Amino acid sequence: MFPSYSKKTENNKQVIEQRLLTQKLNLAVDLDRCTGCGVCIDACPEEAITEGPIGAVSRGKAKVSKVDVDPKKCSFCGVCNILCPFNAIKLSVDGVEKLPILEQQGFPVLEKKAKIDDEKCSRCVLCEEVCPRDAIRRDVAKVDQGHKAASTMKYAIDYKLDDAKCTKCGICAEACDAFKIEYKEPTPLTVKRIGEVKFDEKKCDACKVCVEICPEDAISIERKIIEEPKLSGKVAIDTNECVTCTWCQVICPKDAAKVEKVFEGELTINTANCPAGCSTCVDVCPCNALYLPVVEEAGHKPGKLAYNKDFCIYCGACINACPADSTITMKRNKINVTGEKTNLYNKIEAKLFAEKTPKIKEA
Ligand code: SF4
Repeated sequence: MFPSYSKKTENNKQVIEQRLLTQKLNLAVDLDRCTGCGVCIDACPEEAITEGPIGAVSRGKAKVSKVDVDPKKCSFCGVCNILCPFNAIKLSVDGVEKLPILEQQGFPVLEKKAKIDDEKCSRCVLCEEVCPRDAIRRDVAKVDQGHKAASTMKYAIDYKLDDAKCTKCGICAEACDAFKIEYKEPTPLTVKRIGEVKFDEKKCDACKVCVEICPEDAISIERKIIEEPKLSGKVAIDTNECVTCTWCQVICPKDAAKVEKVFEGELTINTANCPAGCSTCVDVCPCNALYLPVVEEAGHKPGKLAYNKDFCIYCGACINACPADSTITMKRNKINVTGEKTNLYNKIEAKLFAEKTPKIKEA
């Protein structure tokens, strides 16, 4: 009988399905991508999504979804898909990923502004190293070891030969292919000038072996850099994966990464309420923004829970995972979206702006 509903976990996804006579609707929550932030819980107009055991899943104590979707309540509107900052939820219609709400009624989408200025980027590896979401696409050509600089540098050679000193002895040509001595038949008159030194700038990489080896100190070579050496290729941010935490922007030595957070807000931590030895919030934070300061000397007490404002995206995962009461308080005050803010969106935004703090979880 139609409609029929099902819920199953396959390929590391919780998939709920509604089958109609002529249509099959699926909503899949990717267990690896979902952080349990709860944005979808607030966003769902049907209240079809509830919290799962976020802390236990993050600590590897449970292998279930961090959120639970009720297939009978879900209207398959796709709002959770649109507002999930972690790209963890996908709506499909008849097996094809689709968001009919965007086509039919209109709904704004999260605006992730994250990019790398190609001119400024030096192709270093720092952003790739720190990005907690593997969102950096570093497509940079490998260069031969030992020739890294020379093979990527644009330079001109300033070569000078002191003709008065040069005896045409030929040692430079023996040492380097850039030199060639064109010898002429000697005569009693030209005995000290029997050749001409030819220099091929294209073969010179300014290693200066000729300068060192010339017994008459007749050669000078200088390398004039025309353009700063740069590895060829590109480093870019995959905005599907990026969560706008700004780690790349903060670490970039060239000021090349520019990221605008998708959520803005305030977070306050009341460490007096933190249960001893618990680091669940640190474990679940998808942006590595929360931390317990390291104990540097024996006998010192561990530091109190803290967070780096630069990296917090106010997703709410810490609030949902915390097993205690009123430890962290979060209040979003801005969501960057693009597109018309419909009445439905405004209602959801009000829920996302509400102050949030953990409540003791029942066992
Ligand atoms: S903003 Fe954060 S998630 Fe996005 S690319 Fe930079 S480091 Fe990665």
